[in-house]
Amino acid sequence: MADVVWTIQRLLTWTTDFFGERGIENPRLDAEVLLSAVLGRDRMYLYVHFDEPLEAEELARFRAYVKDRAAHMPLAYVLGTREFMGLDFRVTRDTLIPRPDTEVLVECAVDFLRTRASAGAGDLCIADIGTGTGAIALSVLHYTEGAHADAVDISSAAAAVARENAERLGLAERIDVHVGDLAAPLMGRMYDMILSNPPYIPTADIGTLMPEVRGYEPHLALDGGADGLDFYRRLMVNIPAMLRDGGAIAVEVGIGEAHDVAALMETHPRIVRTETMRDLGGIERVVMGHTE
Ligand code: GLN
Repeated sequence: MADVVWTIQRLLTWTTDFFGERGIENPRLDAEVLLSAVLGRDRMYLYVHFDEPLEAEELARFRAYVKDRAAHMPLAYVLGTREFMGLDFRVTRDTLIPRPDTEVLVECAVDFLRTRASAGAGDLCIADIGTGTGAIALSVLHYTEGAHADAVDISSAAAAVARENAERLGLAERIDVHVGDLAAPLMGRMYDMILSNPPYIPTADIGTLMPEVRGYEPHLALDGGADGLDFYRRLMVNIPAMLRDGGAIAVEVGIGEAHDVAALMETHPRIVRTETMRDLGGIERVVMGHTE
């Protein structure tokens, strides 16, 4: 083995087989993503430089990545970043990894806020409850000129990641990140829109999630109690009272939860109408409640 030269091609072949044996879902793709991260190049580079050998230091870093990924650590945690809404977010094991499904929530928020702005509303304010990486609040700010956000997380480690992302994206002046339980730190303030992707997996289902999710992502951000709806019930107690007239609340929901969450929203006297949006897989993913 000592005289084996670890070229790009040889590493990709070896790693793809190794990941395959370990039950990793997309072994070739993950091997390519990790190797291009180590080399600081895009994936196309690998194909044009199959015979290039790695430096000892690059090889050592690649080995460490491969070991973590083979143990089913999600790629986003191995690399420490994840793309969401075209922006690059830092992620750690204190934060849920942003999902493409959640882009539906952001798009619906951006549409709503732009419409409100063109109808003459100035000084747009949003809140993001359970912000994690800050992905929701920060991408809404990035795509909505002039808006300001308050973001809250119960985990101070997650709040630190959200603040770091705000700095990285040049949005630090437009967001305040608070540590606390749901909207507790925001009492007395009023918003045009309140957003949340709360934990919504029924407790008994946590054990059935992919090893990547159940073994690595924070259960604090996943576990929604016996029926998955605990946080929606808690949000409905006082959140609608924090909406400006014509404002709205929009939340992400788990599979099969949209109907119950809409019914919960409608129990609050300030919510006069609800609507549901589907994700790219056709699943009802976002429930929005409007005030008058
Ligand atoms: N979408 C995540 C999953 O299915 C759950 C996110 C959440 O509970 N808010 O793993």
